[in-house]
Amino acid sequence: MRLVLLGAPGAGKGTQAKKLIEKYGIPQISTGDILRKAVTDGTPLGKEAKSYMDKGELVPDNVVIGLVKERISQDDCKKGYILDGFPRNTAQAETLDKVLDSMRASLDVALSVDIDKDILMKRLTGRRTCKSCQQMYNIYFSPPKKERVCDKCGGELFQRDDDKEDTIKRRLDVYDASTSPLIDYYRKKGILKSVKGVGSIDEIFNKVCSVLEGK
Ligand code: AMP
Repeated sequence: MRLVLLGAPGAGKGTQAKKLIEKYGIPQISTGDILRKAVTDGTPLGKEAKSYMDKGELVPDNVVIGLVKERISQDDCKKGYILDGFPRNTAQAETLDKVLDSMRASLDVALSVDIDKDILMKRLTGRRTCKSCQQMYNIYFSPPKKERVCDKCGGELFQRDDDKEDTIKRRLDVYDASTSPLIDYYRKKGILKSVKGVGSIDEIFNKVCSVLEGK
């Protein structure tokens, strides 16, 4: 199954993708994760990407398209994959279609996880990550027992640069302007499915599975 996950930042795409990996045995390809790793590793790609990411802007298309092309050609993607955070605009979606055509493949489903803006803001501004073990918390929905301290390892919790309020506003604006038109793009292709991203992680996952299995 070749699947694209659509939804605003904070809609829970990454969390659902992790559960889909377990269930379907196909890899998740998150361009955000690949770029963040490049930033942490201080590679030339990371250096180029960081300034865009810190501002909540999209990294240039040619950079991310190159990353995705290389990743989907790897052996573990033969049975399919979950694209999370890519494509982010129509140009990326069109290029992806062309790349897949040249590989004699096509997407099976574009799954949109829909959620209200006010919940999104709390999910994003409330997010804290452990500096040591990367465990994630949310000060509104799943706070640590002790403020700013990781329950698991005692490490210090911090707020990702791109989770700060100004950046989040910009990321949501970019989503509205550039990414949300993809919902229509895939609807016109007849492969759009959607679920409401409310409820517990497992409740949402059950809805995701029902939609994917056509129940
Ligand atoms: P994410 O974790 O998917 O929200 O991505 C974090 C940041 O990485 C975004 O705000 C962008 O700056 C960058 N990014 C991730 N995926 C893409 C993409 N497909 N195109 C351009 N920029 C991206």
